[in-house]
Amino acid sequence: MEDYPKSLLEFEKKFGTEESCREYLVRLRWPDGFVCPRCGDERSWQTKRGLLVCSACQYQVSPLAGTIFQGTHKPLAMWFRAIWWVTSQKTGASALGLQRVLGLGSYRTAWAWLHKLRRAMIRPGRDRLSGRIEVDETYVGGQETGKQGREHGKKALVVIAAQEDGRKIGRIRMRRVPDASAQSLVPFVADVIEPGSVVHTDGWSGYAGLKRKGYVHEATAQGRLDIPGAEEDLLPRVHRVVSLLKRWLMGTHQGAVSPEHLDYYLDEFTFRFNRRTSKYRGKLFYRLVQQAANVDPAPYDSLIKHVRGRNRKENKI
Ligand SMILES: [Zn+2]
Repeated sequence: MEDYPKSLLEFEKKFGTEESCREYLVRLRWPDGFVCPRCGDERSWQTKRGLLVCSACQYQVSPLAGTIFQGTHKPLAMWFRAIWWVTSQKTGASALGLQRVLGLGSYRTAWAWLHKLRRAMIRPGRDRLSGRIEVDETYVGGQETGKQGREHGKKALVVIAAQEDGRKIGRIRMRRVPDASAQSLVPFVADVIEPGSVVHTDGWSGYAGLKRKGYVHEATAQGRLDIPGAEEDLLPRVHRVVSLLKRWLMGTHQGAVSPEHLDYYLDEFTFRFNRRTSKYRGKLFYRLVQQAANVDPAPYDSLIKHVRGRNRKENKI
């Protein structure tokens, strides 16, 4: 069942009430029907407040418990609007934009919602890339120009894998890594690419161990890097992804992405990029609600645990 709205009008018709949103969530969370986690019975009924009650043992389950919506003080219909807005826009949403469109009183709530949704954008246990894949690293964040060297500490190293699809780019994967050593790069390849695939990199020694891991490693030694565009010609797909990623971070997020949150922005970029050819944006909506219903909750404190000096009192999100 891939039942999703194909337009804003359809979205509004379908998800106008709290009940319709809950019902959709229940169907995505238990696609084969609700089964009581305590006694295994398949018969249940719903209370007015939306709790599922097992007909055999009366055990009660909130469809929101154990999802990213757990503990929310806002209507599910508002969350659905947020998800629609985030997925229906090609370049995604900023916290300020989301705050405006939902009429949220607090910027922090909008920020936290986006971060919760980003945590649902990468499906655990997803399949690995296969075929022929370009892999390379790049520095992201901080100041791109000026202040030579001073801002370098804010930059993060990101390793990117881009699948070849003829002359085009297939699917991508990316990850922030502490450095460009083999200890950082080889495990990334092992996690995201099927053994037996062709992995195309530059001549960097950090990739030398790939053959032993069962990959066909094609290393193209760098030519003269003082020639502008030399690297881009070497691994064109991965560098196209890099420039789109940087443009997105600078555009939608105006470069305001701190290194400790970068991983989640990379997940969002990957989620969008890998679905960029979907005919209907509603399909992204469907996928994100489905994944939001099946990933663990991310309480506010866990979102900001790396951020010092923030006021932690306001966590009713
Ligand atoms: Zn039961």
